Amino acid sequence: MARAMTTILATQAAEARAKGEALIRQADKLLCESWNERMWADGGPIDPSPTVDQAINGGYGWLEIECPRCKSRRDVDLAALRHPPTTLVHDLASRLRCSKCAKAGRRPSATLLQLTPRARQATSET
Ligand SMILES: [Zn+2]
Repeated sequence: MARAMTTILATQAAEARAKGEALIRQADKLLCESWNERMWADGGPIDPSPTVDQAINGGYGWLEIECPRCKSRRDVDLAALRHPPTTLVHDLASRLRCSKCAKAGRRPSATLLQLTPRARQATSET
């Protein structure tokens, strides 16, 4: 009987954890959507923003950025970044530089446009 109860409790724990994880995933998704809305409506402020792991967990694993100088756009794979997952998305602006402009000796901070579930254009550089 004790073993049966142990199994029941373990099953309930697993179910509760799965529900909790689904709720957190939903919260992370909503956080990304609210940040996107702010970017679309006003272009900012970019702070506060989700963390990199919240964005990935919420299904928004890509960040679309634009170079303020040459206007070239690219999608950044958040999962491939070397920054810690607790890094806030808005803190990436100064760290993501345009490679074209870097060759020209300019390294302006990226303009953050939106979080997206997948890359919208192929990228050959990171
Ligand atoms: Zn550029």
